[in-house]
Amino acid sequence: MPVKILQREPLSFWERTYLPQILDGLRVTWRNLRRPAVTLEYPDQRPPIPRGFRGAPTLVRDPDGREKCVACQLCEFVCPPKAIRVTPGAIPAGSPNAAIEKQPVRFDLDLLRCIYCGLCQEACPEAAIQLQTEYSITHTSRAAFLRDKARLYASGGTLPDPILKWNRPRDDSGQRPEAGELVCAPHSAPTPDGVLPR
Ligand code: SF4
Ligand code: SF4
Repeated sequence: MPVKILQREPLSFWERTYLPQILDGLRVTWRNLRRPAVTLEYPDQRPPIPRGFRGAPTLVRDPDGREKCVACQLCEFVCPPKAIRVTPGAIPAGSPNAAIEKQPVRFDLDLLRCIYCGLCQEACPEAAIQLQTEYSITHTSRAAFLRDKARLYASGGTLPDPILKWNRPRDDSGQRPEAGELVCAPHSAPTPDGVLPR
């Protein structure tokens, strides 16, 4: 194959001094010095987290502090990397959640497996598992990435719940009234766009 050799243009006198390039660079630096900074001094400064951000999965409680998870294991079933393990158990008599059939005895989530896809949140019928805003997750041991139920609830906190279906007592036939008959607690009204606020 023929090879075409291109001749490099010789540098002019000013180009050989590099002064035009240095002045060009200083002009750009001076222009940006007077503009607002677009960088943050992380980790002292943190960026605002947009709504819908998929950070670490958490378990949340309802406004009355009750567990929302009913141990249905749907999240465990849909989780692609099998990061969730739910061990269901019966609700003790006299519990504030006595109207529920099951609750998790154990709920373990392996953040080293989690790919933050959000499928567990999509599948959960109780909006009990929520990917919230925690994104900077570093530990010095692999074991620290395994989050148990207590740790998941501690990071999840309480979110508004417009349904509060466990407040509806069963009637004589064992059925709960329709949602339309439900009177929601005032502090649990949904946001105007119907999205759970973070
Ligand atoms: S975000 Fe995705 S990978 Fe992580 S626990 Fe949920 S379903 Fe599993
Ligand atoms: S978090 Fe939701 S989907 Fe997972 S077991 Fe609990 S209620 Fe079911």
